[in-house]
Amino acid sequence: MNEAATTAIRVEHTQQPRLPQVDFSNLKFGQVLSDHMLVADYVDGHWDTVSIVPYGNLSLSPATSALHYGQAIFEGLKAYKFADGTISVFRPDKNLERFNKSALRLEMPEVPEEIFIGGLKALLDIDRGWVPGTVGASLYIRPFMFGTEAALGVHPSDSYKFIIITGPVGAYYNKPLRLKVETHFTRAAEGGVGFSKNAGNYALSLHPTRLAQEEGFDQLMWTDAIEHKYVEEAGTANLVFRVGDTIITPSSDTILHGITRRTIIEIAKHWGYQAEERKVSVKELIDGIENGSVTEAFAAGTAATLTPISEIGYEGQIYRLPDPAQREFSNRVLQYLNDLRYGRIADEFGWNFIVG
Ligand SMILES: *Cc1c(COP(=O)(O)O)cnc(C)c1O
Repeated sequence: MNEAATTAIRVEHTQQPRLPQVDFSNLKFGQVLSDHMLVADYVDGHWDTVSIVPYGNLSLSPATSALHYGQAIFEGLKAYKFADGTISVFRPDKNLERFNKSALRLEMPEVPEEIFIGGLKALLDIDRGWVPGTVGASLYIRPFMFGTEAALGVHPSDSYKFIIITGPVGAYYNKPLRLKVETHFTRAAEGGVGFSKNAGNYALSLHPTRLAQEEGFDQLMWTDAIEHKYVEEAGTANLVFRVGDTIITPSSDTILHGITRRTIIEIAKHWGYQAEERKVSVKELIDGIENGSVTEAFAAGTAATLTPISEIGYEGQIYRLPDPAQREFSNRVLQYLNDLRYGRIADEFGWNFIVG
């Protein structure tokens, strides 16, 4: 167990705010980062100092353990601005829960709620001007933690940094995806780390993804490690299908358990759709596209919310899905989520965490 951090957050404001120079009408994902960051240090078995400081470089030893042995995990969530200026974060408690599951699997310390959520709230309060007010835009939030011990040797780091950086992102144009079913490379196996948001899971995806992109696909549709027969997830998003009036998402211990996917399943159930989390075979999916029973398919994740899948490539064949504009559930749930996150409708599930 971690000792609770009792130290107050120390705040150092930037002397050179960059906010006035930001062109909010032209934001590329991840390129523009806000004026401040939260930094917490874990040393001698407890969380020590917690500070909000000007965004800037870190100074690290070349022996920093995370750079060699990969104790590095992260999260991704978003803050939205309501028409009245209120700032709200979508379900951050779920990100904290998942972050600490990732930490446990990689033998890293848990981050207490008062640092993760309390620290985020204090940071957003200082950088509230960075949350865009334009339609479809939001502030992307990236909490992360890595081992900082300055020594070689494979063992758990004796010190860690937990940091939160943020940056405004523009409205996302959800260009329909062409996915290739991956039947050679593997993302994650049973007993491994597929469920955790750790840095290594992304490094291993880059080479197979590039090969698929050279064939004209956008991303991969990963399959299970043993037979490559069951559908897992796409690059950095989960998969959701509609078959008849049933909304289906693949279930497995090796996928990242996305909060967007969970949210969409909860809404589907609330609306009276049948919703299932179960194994989905590639064969079931391909047969369903061919016989017309699979009417909708999309990738679900925080970055883009919901991106329709237009084509699936499998063993040299291309299978086409119905026109995204005609997809009743996908369009309805996307509209609902946007209305909810921007405070345009009642928050009937209590998912908006109001910063103020
Ligand atoms: C982050 C992520 C997702 C989506 O999770 P959300 O909580 O919905 O953002 C799905 N798959 C992978 C591999 C991811 O890294």
